[in-house]
Amino acid sequence: MSVFTGKAARGADSLQSGDNTRVMRILIVEDEERLAHLISRVLVEEGYAVETEANGRQALMRALADKYDLLIVDWMLPDLSGVQLVKRLRAAEVGTPAIMLTARDQIEDRVEGLDAGADDYLPKPFAFPELLARVRALARRPWGEEKDGAILAAGDVTLDPVRHVVRHRGETVDLTAKEFALLATLLQRPGQVFTRPVLLDTVWGASPEVYANVVDLYISYLRKKLDGDGDTSHIRTVRGVGYTFDPQPGPR
Ligand code: CA
Repeated sequence: MSVFTGKAARGADSLQSGDNTRVMRILIVEDEERLAHLISRVLVEEGYAVETEANGRQALMRALADKYDLLIVDWMLPDLSGVQLVKRLRAAEVGTPAIMLTARDQIEDRVEGLDAGADDYLPKPFAFPELLARVRALARRPWGEEKDGAILAAGDVTLDPVRHVVRHRGETVDLTAKEFALLATLLQRPGQVFTRPVLLDTVWGASPEVYANVVDLYISYLRKKLDGDGDTSHIRTVRGVGYTFDPQPGPR
């Protein structure tokens, strides 16, 4: 185990969370020592207080015993897998946001991770700006939301990753695994525009050349199931960029 602490002055400046300016604590659970060290260094430079743990079971003990703002968890770990780690934390009602790191050949397992209660995914190898963007998005969640943190909601749509249930105006909507993962991604940040390559990468783990229009196809499936055949939809097309989830249905 190693502990790194960011520069205090910078931490106070850059880590405002509402009216709270304390330094965010992040636990990195990663058994590839080099990668764990790299992630630590990048996060410490951003002013986060970072700890690392290489063993899944040890990480579970630490996350249960101590209060972290965010967990970054590798999928494959000694003793206890990342998905089991998150599952056990959620079972113990510990809602600390968790970003799961997945290798590209484990893409199909992502839904399993989502079921387990992970908040976000990052396929390896990843770019550090992308990791930082996701860390910022999750670290912004106030502590009070922890217990309900697993349920995503916007407008009249809710998504429960633990029970794998989507509801629209209270009615259950049947979605396939890919549709579910796509909607979950959009619902992570309603109003934010997700580009096709980002959605493709997050949901399918594929490069844009492989399935040029699979995102558009699945967006059309989602719209049909969520919004029927009407002219309006929760999912708005941003021309030339991608898609965003709009809590208020509008023109497609
Ligand atoms: Ca690993």
